[in-house]
Amino acid sequence: MNNNNLPKSAKEARASGSKYYFTQKPCKHGHVSKRLTKTSHCVVCASLKYHKRKQKLIEEFGEEKAAQVLREQQRNAAQEYRDSHKEQNREYMQAYMQAYRKTEQGLANIASLKYHKRKQKLIEESKKNK
Ligand SMILES: [Zn+2]
Repeated sequence: MNNNNLPKSAKEARASGSKYYFTQKPCKHGHVSKRLTKTSHCVVCASLKYHKRKQKLIEEFGEEKAAQVLREQQRNAAQEYRDSHKEQNREYMQAYMQAYRKTEQGLANIASLKYHKRKQKLIEESKKNK
């Protein structure tokens, strides 16, 4: 991936929804690499930090247990991320559905959904009446 195609600042990255940005300036450890929009950490530092933590866990718990701990941490982080974005997503989905209902395809789909629901109900009712 070409870093030069990335946004030049965290602000730009957030505005465009990019996961990374690239300032062309070295981080405090001297890496000239792209940075994570969310944390503004340089990816080399983040990766080194991860490997350091992994190494420490392996020393402490052994390889198998370390892998398990890391998996768990990643799962927890992902869950936390999902939780923090749930509210945001809900609003987004509502807005999306509102816009969708206004489109022709959306209207057609909703009409067809209603038709099938009604049909299903009629079938069930006719079964009951037998
Ligand atoms: Zn760095």
